[in-house]
Order: sequence, then C-alpha cells, then structure tokens
Amino acid sequence: MQKELFNVIAFCTTQYDCRQRFLCKYLWPELLSSYDECNNCDNCQKRNKENPQLTDAFSEILEILEVVEALTKNSLIEVSPDNIVDVFSRSNTDKIRKNKYNELTLQRDSKEVKLYEEKLPTILILKETARIALNDLVCKNLVKQEIWLQKSKMTQYLSCSTVVVEISENAKENAKKECWEYWIYSRKGKKRSG
Ligand SMILES: [Zn+2]
Repeated sequence: MQKELFNVIAFCTTQYDCRQRFLCKYLWPELLSSYDECNNCDNCQKRNKENPQLTDAFSEILEILEVVEALTKNSLIEVSPDNIVDVFSRSNTDKIRKNKYNELTLQRDSKEVKLYEEKLPTILILKETARIALNDLVCKNLVKQEIWLQKSKMTQYLSCSTVVVEISENAKENAKKECWEYWIYSRKGKKRSG
C-alpha cells in the first residue's frame, strides 16, 4: 500500500517525463518501447518549451545510494528524504551541522573519503532533480522508505513522517541493470533551442 503511494508521489514530482508514458511504464511496462511521448501533457509541454537534455546520471545515483547507506547505518535518529537530498547536495544548514552530516565519510575503493570534500554533483545539481532521483530509487526498490505514524508523548496527537530506512540488499549491483537517464535543464540546452 505504501509502495503505491510512493509511485503516486513520483508521478506528481516529475517535471519533464511524459505523464502518459509514466502511466504506461507503471501499468504496461512491456509496451513502453512502443509508446511515444504524447507531446500534449503538462510535462511534455514544459519539456518542449525548456528543452532539457536527456543525461545519464548513473554515477550520481550510486552516490545517492552511498549517502543513504552511510546516513541510515546505525543511525539513532530518523533520516528523512530531505536529509538525504541535503547531504547529497552538500548543504550546510544548522541541522546538517548539528547531526555532523557534513563530516560524513564514505568507503570508496577501500579508502575513506569525506563526502563534503568530494566534487559537487554536476548532473543532479538542483535539489528537485536529486529528489526525483531518490523517489526513483524508492520506486525501483533500491531504497527502502516507509511512512511512520507516531503519537506525540506530550500532546497525544498523531503525526506521520516519511523515513528513509536503508538501501536494499545488492542495491548498487542492481542499480547497474536500470536506466538512470534524466531530463536535465541547463542554460546551454536552452540556447540550443534558439
Ligand atoms: Zn506527455
């Protein structure tokens, strides 16, 4: 049930992906290759107007997975999708500093690297785009995300929060089998459209 909801969220947050194709991908994935963009929905119109470029973001998808893995492993506090996107984008907010997320280290080729000293994302530059990529990872079952219902001890009111739980088993290996192309808007792309 929660899984369905995350698909709906993904449908709502895409900016340039044809909505008809999105539904086709979800309902009849085997027909997707013969299903063209409709050029009529709001996303198609936005894409045709702004002329973004279809760009492979696989390397940065792996980095998002690394961030999810590092932040959720042995974490005593809830990790939200915003936390993941903020750290991936190297934000330096009070909350980031308080949780020492800016000191996060990742294991790369049996070497420890500090994420905040690594080069910034060059494809998923905008937080909106990074968020779309994270939604995608959830929909493709590579990141486990849940909605938790909680009761405040003080007020007894209920509230719910979206929590990033962990990366799924063999997520990095399985990511290689998927397509990670995103429509990326850049000034260059706009110029080319005239
Ligand atoms: Zn469309």
